[in-house]
Amino acid sequence: PHFVELRNVTKRFGNNTVIAGINLAIPKGEMVTLLGPSGCGKTTVLRLVAGLEKPSEGQILIDGEDVTHRSIQQRDICMVFQSYALFPHMSLGDNVGYGLKMLGTPRAEIKTRVKEALAMVDLDGFEDRFVDQISGGQQQRVALARALILKPKVLLFDEPLSNLDANLRRSMRDKIRELQKQFNITSLYVTHDQSEAFAVSDTVLVMNKGEIMQIGSPQTLYRQPASRFMASFMGDANVFPARFDHDFVEIHGYRLPRPPQLTATQSIGTVGVRPEAITLSEHGEESQRCVVRHVAYMGPQYEVTVEWHGQALLLQVNATRLQPDVGDNYYLEIHPYGMFILVD
Ligand code: ADP
Ligand code: MG
Repeated sequence: PHFVELRNVTKRFGNNTVIAGINLAIPKGEMVTLLGPSGCGKTTVLRLVAGLEKPSEGQILIDGEDVTHRSIQQRDICMVFQSYALFPHMSLGDNVGYGLKMLGTPRAEIKTRVKEALAMVDLDGFEDRFVDQISGGQQQRVALARALILKPKVLLFDEPLSNLDANLRRSMRDKIRELQKQFNITSLYVTHDQSEAFAVSDTVLVMNKGEIMQIGSPQTLYRQPASRFMASFMGDANVFPARFDHDFVEIHGYRLPRPPQLTATQSIGTVGVRPEAITLSEHGEESQRCVVRHVAYMGPQYEVTVEWHGQALLLQVNATRLQPDVGDNYYLEIHPYGMFILVD
């Protein structure tokens, strides 16, 4: 059963349609991620779920009840923002306990629950410190504890890692995922970062210009993008004209076994190939021959552009395997796992 549901929700500001009839469902206890470029409407979706905005059309259901016209106070939802929004003049303990205090919870209970909530985010004993005495990463964990302590029905995350530097981002991301799973908190997580979306949740909804483009597991979105937008938004993609037969695919005369995910019904079509699915070899058929045009050393791998049958294509070469140079001749091999059909 779906715990949070948006049915045909549209949001207009004046005559600007920002959300165009989206459907979205989060099963109880799960986290779904909304991924999309900046300005596509992600924050608006969160604000609609929270009750900070009213939909122009459509319905919002939480725990089986229509909450479309309910206020934020009647929805039992917490939000974690990119800016931590902590109170600087209060101790961390008071920050975390603030929501409970507003609800009139007895002081002794607040004290116990603040202690528990801080422990959940690995900040045991930080009750008496102040915001300016802790790092940005710790501040974001306090913000998370402040939301968790209220045991909301739904937790909303709006780009919570954006203000953290790269290694803190990874540990905070893993912490959010760990706590979400441990306590089965129904959550909606928003980000514009594809790798963050993939790492943090099992189901990702990709949004563009107020519309849902595709829903699926990270593997499905990356390996079987439903459109050209999806193919390029999920990562680099090389695009080729192809000929299909029952058990092979032929690209520029190069024949390879047809992988099961290539389900085209026509005999001619377009395929996409991810860069990491192309390797260079010293030997091969004439149809596989290519020339190296650009090489960029990235550390673990080289990013290489080769020319193949007049077409430039991008691939990755593991630096422990091969050190390609501009002008080198190679034979390329395509790994069937990294191929997909392009529909439009
Ligand atoms: P995202 O979070 O994906 O970056 P937003 O949901 O913040 O996108 O914004 C989507 C679009 O809606 C933007 O074009 C933004 O300018 C517009 N928008 C958001 N809130 C308002 C508002 N209160 N009034 C008018 N336009 C708004
Ligand atoms: Mg936003």
